[in-house]
Parts: sequence; structure tokens; C-alpha cells
Amino acid sequence: MEKVFWFVVGSQFLYGNEVLETVAVRGREMADAMSAELPYKLIYKATVKTDEEITRIAKEANYDDSCCGVVTWCHTFSPSKMWIHGFGLLQKPHCHLATQYNRTIPNDEIDMDFMNLNQAAHGDREHGFITARMRQPRKIIAGYWQDKPVTDELGAWMRSAVGYDYSHKLRIVRFGDNMRDVAVTEGDKVEAQIKLGWQVDYWPVGHLTEVMAEVTDKEIDEKMQEYSERYDFATDDMDTVRYQAREELAMRKILGREGSTAFINNFQDLYGMEQLPGLASQNMMYDGFGYGGEGDWKVAGMTAVMKKMAEGLDGGTLFMEDYTYDLTPGREVSLGAHMLEVCPSIAADKPRIEVHPLGIGDRQPPARLVFEGKPGKGIVASLIDMGGRMRLIVQDIEVIKPICEMPNLPVARVMWKPAPDLLTGVKCWIEAGGAHHTVLSTAVTAQMMEDWADMMQIEYVHITDKTDHSEFKKELFYNDIAWKLKEF
Ligand code: MN
Repeated sequence: MEKVFWFVVGSQFLYGNEVLETVAVRGREMADAMSAELPYKLIYKATVKTDEEITRIAKEANYDDSCCGVVTWCHTFSPSKMWIHGFGLLQKPHCHLATQYNRTIPNDEIDMDFMNLNQAAHGDREHGFITARMRQPRKIIAGYWQDKPVTDELGAWMRSAVGYDYSHKLRIVRFGDNMRDVAVTEGDKVEAQIKLGWQVDYWPVGHLTEVMAEVTDKEIDEKMQEYSERYDFATDDMDTVRYQAREELAMRKILGREGSTAFINNFQDLYGMEQLPGLASQNMMYDGFGYGGEGDWKVAGMTAVMKKMAEGLDGGTLFMEDYTYDLTPGREVSLGAHMLEVCPSIAADKPRIEVHPLGIGDRQPPARLVFEGKPGKGIVASLIDMGGRMRLIVQDIEVIKPICEMPNLPVARVMWKPAPDLLTGVKCWIEAGGAHHTVLSTAVTAQMMEDWADMMQIEYVHITDKTDHSEFKKELFYNDIAWKLKEF
């Protein structure tokens, strides 16, 4: 189903029918022109003047599965008491676009008729007051509707809203439970479903091995063909690679059957399996599936949501793990990898399929993809359960070309510099309780994550090049108090 957004123009009867007719034409023109610059279509819906009209649109937006959000623009003063009922009912993300049809004030033409038609500055304040008064989450964008920064910001917000929509339909399949003894990968699954819409369900590994046994040689041949088109083979051990294909095909069958697009496994629970899925998980992530290692369903969910938000953008979005630092003064960097499962969407060159022993899991050496990450600006994001609420931590990073070749490291690797610098960045990350598992993205921006967190109504903190550790610590402390008041 095509995802769309609705454009609703706020008005009133005060200035007569001619004004309303002109505004309706302009509203359509603006929506059509902006749509050409946006990742999703913006459809002019109505120019609204009454409580009944606004309420009806809010109800329709709620029930229409194709509608992912409502963009409002008040060409004039649209008295806000009539918006209260509709806004109270609206369950879709809302963006208040503070713009006007004309760019400039026309010196000779301007008279009271012009003013009646072009009173956005007047109308924006009344419109903003009521959502502020109602404490409703909304995105505010200010600027001229034909300008690129405005359509870029609106387009980015649309991606967050599509992430919101997707999040509410997300099903995460857990092949096994979380890794024993680990704290940060745990979390309240009911809270996750209430807040984020994610259904997080367990499926026994024994069921996965049953489905693996049903996979045919022909299916594996086709999967091997796909591998050879996407990757270079740097191994002769075809039996090992074919085993990964069998695992991938079985996981896809179960996820397809369950309507799921995210999954986890745990190297401690591989009963009846010869290899930990490596290549299998990586190839699924490449196609948009979310994944988390060691049973980390929160990072699996975030990976899936962020991949959805990134659709059509350049750059990669992937499950990542902080591993080791280079603490050479002046060039401090962090090296991320995982024992196997890094998504090739960030690969600088064509990934190689290699087979190497794995120190953990007590199984056969698994096939995996090995590559280097492509340089670029990006973010890392971590969702943690603070007990009573979810906190989303985002940090700006710059992915760099690895400063050394690391020929004996048989896994995909990404090297980056976190903001504001490695040491302050690490301090702030630890202060916030950020996990070692993250979603790294060079496609999704921090602004998109902030908007998504606002829609989800979860806590959001952002570590940037301006972050000061003492101030950040205070922000966390104040947030703690604020969220306790909010939640309980
Ligand atoms: Mn891990």
C-alpha cells in the first residue's frame, strides 16, 4: 500500500467564499509542488472552517491505513477551539507547516484583501498555541514552501512518520532467549509493545531446525546464485556456505509466515544447528530485516525501523557493536564490528564470503561476509530500558577509512570518530547507559530519530559536537525527574 500524507489548510468563514476558493486552489498547488520534492506524496485534503470538518478529517486519517501523517497549514487565523476535538482524536503524526503562499510582501499590491488571504503569521500563533496547550507532540517546520531546506525537513519528518507507522506493525521473532547474565539486552516486552507497537515473540530453535530440514537443494542453489551475484567468494568450502543458505531460507520462511521483519538469535542456543548464522543474517539485513545478536531484540527492532526510514537514501543502516578503541592522543577512534553479523549495506567494496572458526558458540566455523565500512557522516543509536520508560540515545559520528588493515581480523569492521571527541563521547554515552549494541546509520539523521522519538513519546538524548559532559549529566538528571512525573 502506498504511504501518503494529508495536507489540511486551516481557515474560517470570516473573509467570504472567494478567499476560500482561492486558498483551496493554492493548497492543492502547494501540495502537488512539494510532493515532487518529497519521498512520499502529500495530498491536499481540505480547507477546513468548522469543528465538524476537522473532527471528520482526524477520524478519517486515523482509519486510513495509507495515511501516515497530517500536515497542517493555516493561511489565516483559524480559531483553535474548533481544532480541539479533532486534535484530541488524531492518532497520526502531525506537522505544523509555518509557511505562506507568497514569498514576499508586495509593496504596491498589499491591501486589506491581500492581508485577509495571507495571514499565516497571524494564524500560525493561534494554531501553535492549541497544540502547545494540549501538550500534543507535533513537528514544526518554518520556511518558504518552495525552498529546499523546507521540503528536506518535511521529507525527513515523513520518513520518521513512516517509521512510526512501521513500528506499530513490527513483529520480532526471537530464536532463543537473551544471552545469559547480560543486562543491557533485557527489557520489558510489554512496555515495548505499548510504547513502540512491537510484538516480541519467542520461537524455539528446535522449530527453526525443523524448517531447515525442509529446505530443498533447489532452494539452496537459487540462494547460492544470489550470493554469487552480491558477493565475492573467498572460500572453496561450499558446504559451509550452503549451510548458511539453508539457515537463511528457513529463517525467512518462519519470518514470512509470522509477518515479521526482525529477528534475533543467541550463540548459546544453537541446538541442532551446525553453524551460528553469519552470512545468513547479514544477507537478510541487506534486504531490510532487523537483527540483534545475543538475543538483543531492542536493537533488532531499531535496525528494522531505521532501515524502513532510510528506504531510498544513500548510505547504510546496520546492527553494530562497539569493540575496541585506539587511544593514540589526537587521533582517537572506535572500532566497531561484530563476531559475525554486520550488514553489508555499509560496505565500501563488494563483500567477501569467508569461512573462519568462531571462538564462541561451540559449533562449526561459519561463513560470513568480510568488508570495510564506507566513510561518511552518520549516527549510532541505542534504545535502552530504564525501568518504567525507554530511552533512545543518539550520537553523531564520522565513519572513517580504517587507520590500519587488520589482516587477521576475519569480520566486517567499521571505524568511526564519535562526537564531540572520542573521550567525551564515550563518557556521555556511558553516563546515559548506552549499550555496546547500536544501530549505525549513514542514511538516517539524528533529526529523524528525534522526530521519531517525539512521535513515540519516549525519552531522547543526543550527543553532538556541542555536547558538554557536565551539562549532559544534568540533562539526564532532569529527564529522570520529568519522566517519572510523566509516567507515574
Ligand atoms: Mn554483542
